Parts: sequence; C-alpha cells; structure tokens
Amino acid sequence: MAASKDSNPSQPTVHGFTVLIYDSEPHLNSRPRDWTIALHWALPIFSSLLPSSILANFDHAVSNPHLDFDEWAETLPMYNGETGDLMFKSAVPGARRITRRGLREVLSDGLDIAWGRKVTRLDTESNPEKVKVTLEGEEGVEEEVWADFVLGTDGAGSKVREILFADQENGEEKAKAKRSGFMIGTCVVDYQDEDVVRKVLEKHPVMAMAMSRGAVGAFGVQYTTGTPPSNLHHTFFWTKIWKGSLSTTPDLPRKGPEAVRYLKQSWQGDLSPDFQSFVDVTPEDDTHTQAFIDEMGTWIAQPFDNRDGRVTLAGDAGHPMLILRGQGFQHAVIDVQNYVQALLAIRDSGADRKDLVAAYDKDMVERGSEAALQALEEAELAMDAKSVEKMLMVRKGHGRSV
Ligand SMILES: Cc1cc2nc3c(=O)[nH]c(=O)nc-3n(C[C@H](O)[C@H](O)[C@H](O)COP(=O)(O)OP(=O)(O)OC[C@H]3O[C@@H](n4cnc5c(N)ncnc54)[C@H](O)[C@@H]3O)c2cc1C
Repeated sequence: MAASKDSNPSQPTVHGFTVLIYDSEPHLNSRPRDWTIALHWALPIFSSLLPSSILANFDHAVSNPHLDFDEWAETLPMYNGETGDLMFKSAVPGARRITRRGLREVLSDGLDIAWGRKVTRLDTESNPEKVKVTLEGEEGVEEEVWADFVLGTDGAGSKVREILFADQENGEEKAKAKRSGFMIGTCVVDYQDEDVVRKVLEKHPVMAMAMSRGAVGAFGVQYTTGTPPSNLHHTFFWTKIWKGSLSTTPDLPRKGPEAVRYLKQSWQGDLSPDFQSFVDVTPEDDTHTQAFIDEMGTWIAQPFDNRDGRVTLAGDAGHPMLILRGQGFQHAVIDVQNYVQALLAIRDSGADRKDLVAAYDKDMVERGSEAALQALEEAELAMDAKSVEKMLMVRKGHGRSV
C-alpha cells in the first residue's frame, strides 16, 4: 500500500508529494508463484506514467523480449484444444506479455519500499485532515505513520478495503473477495524435450489459448534467458481453468509434484496430440516444474465511505476479477492515472478533495464492477463449446473491457 503526504526533506518525492510505500511481504520476490500478464490497451498509458529511466528497463519484465514483434507475435490465437485447429485470433497490436515478478523488479528500482509491514488499522477520527496508519512489522512490532492520503493497493484480499467497509452493516462480509466457482491450475515448466519446445513456440511465440471440454487453457513463454539470436532458453507455462470450487474439493493438491500430477491427469485424453504432449511431458519434479492450483476470487466493487477523500483503493484491492480477457492489471493502470491526476488537481488548483476523490471512486467502482462481471460471464461462456461464440474475446477481441 502507499501513503502520500506533505513534502518531507528526508524522503524522495514524486510530483512534489512524499510517497511512503509499505508491503507486507518480507521482500520483493518472496512470493513463489509468478504469472504472466498481457499489457495491451493500457500499455501507452502505463508508459506515460513512468520516468524514462524506469521505462528503459521494461524489456526486463517481458517474457519473450527478443522476439521480432510482427503481426503474428502481436496476435492472440485461440485453438480448439481437442482438434488442434485454430478457432479464432485477436489482433493485439503493440501488446507485450510481462511477468509479475519482472514487473515488480522494474517498477521498484530506486524506490524505498518498507518491506514486511502489514497495514492493520486506519484512524480517520483523531485528525479530520489526516489518516493515522498502523503497520505491523516482523514479530508483531507496530509502527504508526500519518498521511494526507492513503491509497490501498494491497491486492485481492485488501485489508484497506475491509477497514473501509467496517462501518457498514454486514461490512466485513461485503468487503470480502468471493470464491468465483472457477479453478485455475498453472505449471511453470522447464521442458526437457526440444521437440516440445519447438512445437509450443509454433503454436505461438508468446501465448496461445486452447479450449477443450469444460476447460480453457493457455500455453506460452514465461521467461527467456540466454543471448539472442541462437542461444535462448525458454521456460514455459501452461494454465488450465475449469469450473469447480475449493468448497467442494478442499483436499485438492495446491502445489508441488502432486499438483502437477493432478493437472496432468485431469486433462488426460481431452486434447489433440500436440497440446496433449505439452501437458504429458511436463516433468513432475520441483526442479523443472512449479505448479499451483487455486480457486480464483472476485469482488464486485461497491461504493464505500472514503473518509472525506483521504482513503481509497486501486488495482486488485478495488476490483479483483477473473483473468479471462486479461483486464485486471490494465484497469489498475487506469486507476493510477486517475488517482495521480486527482492528487495533482487537489494540490495545484485547490479543487475540493472530497469531490475529486469521490469522482475517482465513482469511476473505479463502476468500471471495476462492470469489468469483474464481464470476466465472470466470459469464464462461464468459455466452458461450453456451444457458447464460445458469445464470448467477448470472440466478438470484440482483447480490447478494453470498460
Ligand atoms: C494467472 C493470472 C494471469 C493474469 N493475466 C492478466 C493479464 O493478462 N492482463 C491483466 O491486465 N491482468 C492480468 N492478471 C491480473 C493482474 O495480475 C492483477 O490485476 C495485478 O497483478 C494486480 O496488482 P495489484 O498491485 O493491485 O495487486 P497485487 O499484485 O496482489 O499486489 C498487492 C501487494 O499488496 C501487498 N499487501 C497485501 N496485504 C497487505 C497489507 N495488509 N499491508 C501491506 N501490504 C499488503 C502484497 O504483499 C502485494 O505485494 C492476471 C492475474 C493472474 C493471477
């Protein structure tokens, strides 16, 4: 999460604001799970928000940065996973697929992030103009900071969201991200078979999607190492999304070799020979494959009391959504653009904080709720070959959802 306040000579400033960033994780790469994110329609806005020195390192986050990004590389193909035939393709001009880990490395360069600090309380009563933020560090040590503005960017299970809803009837329940009824399983694989490597890249050099009975999958490049053009090594990922819930299958393996075996078995016999081989030859040991299974969460954004414009949300804290059509991070970029504009207008034109942050919230809630509902419907339609044609990605491609 980030808190911004008056300029303080001992802290670096952004647009003249002192920005303090706290994160509950112990360090930048402490989370073992990583995934790729398509940055497409929001890429120009994302680029405009970054200093050129940071943008210069953007390729570090790109999963396959040495590609010749021609028309095919900037296309997202959807195959019939059972026959291997191409069903349709979306043009995604300018799109780049980045890893979450690489993105965090690029964006954190030069920032002083206070790691291992979990926001636990916000006090908006003691001072009508400020917010007291309580953070819990390692071994439960508490720390307090005062801020003019607090932006909760603490992800799908946001504590800041929980605090903002606490004064509403049934607020705790209202604020909780809900289980979506859709499971996701991912294997990040270092294939030991050159023939399979070649075939995955032939399907698509960035990511191909594939539909099969009751599931939708994706196969693509996760990381690229080595030197171009001839000495490159790719690590791949494959993902399967299916209808199901941890409520009814609490004993499902969630990670490690057992999760790999579960995912492989669950797709056994459903796929065309090429796609089946990408799944079947996945090594089952921790050294070559990292596997994760979870139920995806979602939350349909609702209005909240932003404490006279002093506290609000952005990114997954404000609109966690299913990953179908790749919109979540891109909407986070829009949030950031809007929030920065609101802060600058409050400071520079004397505009009313309550009005501007209320306008920010209204847009974020309306956009976020609509995008989350669209993503849920998209997942539902993807599960049945008869409804695939109704999907937004078939009718409208991968453009901006809202
Ligand atoms: C498999 C997958 C594929 C995806 N593909 C796409 C795609 O193609 N395109 C797209 O646009 N989006 C995609 N998304 C969505 C995208 O990844 C998310 O929208 C984005 O990462 C959200 O970023 P965030 O910073 O809001 O939240 P997060 O990345 O969850 O970061 C939240 C941070 O807050 C910290 N935190 C949590 N609680 C606290 C606390 N109490 N105090 C302090 N810090 C705290 C966490 O440690 C974490 O660092 C995908 C998601 C998944 C899972």
